[in-house]
Amino acid sequence: MPRFPGVDYVQFDSLLSEQELLVRQTARQFVDERVVPVIREAYNQGEFPKQLIRDMADLGFFGANLEGYGCAGLNNIEYGLIMQELERGDSALRSFVSVQGALVMYPIYAYGSEEQKQIWLPKLQSGKAVGCFGLTEPGYGSNPSAMTATAEKHGGVWVLNGEKTWITNGGLADIAVVWARTPDGIRAFLVERGTQGFSTSDIHGKLSMRASVTSSLHFSNCEIPLDNQLPNAKGLRAALGCLTQARYGIGWGVLGAAMDCYETARSYTLSRKQFDNRPIASHQLVQEKLAWMITEITKGQLLAFHLGKLKDQDRAEPAHISMLKRNNVAIALECARFSRDLLGANGIMDEYPIMRHMCNLETVKTYEGTEHIHTLIIGEKITGISAYR
Ligand SMILES: Cc1cc2nc3c(=O)[nH]c(=O)nc-3n(C[C@H](O)[C@H](O)[C@H](O)COP(=O)(O)OP(=O)(O)OC[C@H]3O[C@@H](n4cnc5c(N)ncnc54)[C@H](O)[C@@H]3O)c2cc1C
Repeated sequence: MPRFPGVDYVQFDSLLSEQELLVRQTARQFVDERVVPVIREAYNQGEFPKQLIRDMADLGFFGANLEGYGCAGLNNIEYGLIMQELERGDSALRSFVSVQGALVMYPIYAYGSEEQKQIWLPKLQSGKAVGCFGLTEPGYGSNPSAMTATAEKHGGVWVLNGEKTWITNGGLADIAVVWARTPDGIRAFLVERGTQGFSTSDIHGKLSMRASVTSSLHFSNCEIPLDNQLPNAKGLRAALGCLTQARYGIGWGVLGAAMDCYETARSYTLSRKQFDNRPIASHQLVQEKLAWMITEITKGQLLAFHLGKLKDQDRAEPAHISMLKRNNVAIALECARFSRDLLGANGIMDEYPIMRHMCNLETVKTYEGTEHIHTLIIGEKITGISAYR
């Protein structure tokens, strides 16, 4: 019997090619064998399981939907299925891979010079280098267009000043993609660890994404070569182009967390007995929650699949991806809450993955555009009226 029989409710798998099923199976096996045994401890200790970086690189997870430079060149369904399986393990793993691929490799791939691509993409793909993406600032999260970090040309160098915060992988990163204001508008720069005037400090005390490294980046008269600017990243639009890539992966990833919660609740309610020694799954109120979860997961899968097909044809618009991210995060969080409820007191224990997923999903709801911001993107798309201010 397959381990997850319940999440193929409308024969979703029949939409997948042999190759797509194989990619999913490979990622699922990696998560079962390498992530599940260590993630509870990593989460409790507040540490990213660094030993998995090389394994994920060897499996081709970094920049998996990019072509050339050692990348796997997978289609967007295969890429999405990898994200789903990783987040079934923990959002921290999916976040690491999202940042490395969609927020560091993608901008170099899409906006970098050929020399930048040759230098960095093979290193990032193989896990020999780790990257981070610095857009958010202490005063500017949902509205990065007001950023205050600056980059100015002085003689033969760019000089960076300012602070970025809430940066995933910041403390681990060998290279940071940093967005800063120049006299010509917002531009992106590659800043290597060890550059004078650049330092990082990790953020502690998180009750969510505990197995992920989150940091602040500090720039104080940090001088970088002129060649470290990404030549084709012009304006905030370029940064949003990266976020669209990452948000697509999130739309698939959170389904993995939702599936893990649903499966845990389904199997628990079939074995747990109350009132006349009957399984709690035999009660209508319990079945109503299970039915809601599998319905929403199935709808989320179909939306993700459709957008993957559109993305492969270069027809997926940012506002489409906003619907995917907003909807799938919201239903995943609700699945986690329902599942926690169905496990009763056991639902709060770290022996089960549910509270971990629930806490992680609170971050996923906020980062890469909050639920409100995606609502406004959809609202603007359907009315033509911008309602941010
Ligand atoms: C664990 C973690 C990892 C992260 N990783 C990264 C990373 O790698 N790189 C990076 O650059 N950033 C990262 N972020 C930052 C993340 O993208 C921001 O937190 C997010 O954009 C929200 O910004 P904020 O926290 O400043 O909230 P705010 O923008 O202050 O928003 C607070 C609340 O106000 C609401 N709000 C704001 N403006 C409006 C409006 N116009 N209309 C309606 N409601 C509004 C928001 O929806 C939210 O509910 C990460 C965050 C976390 C928690």
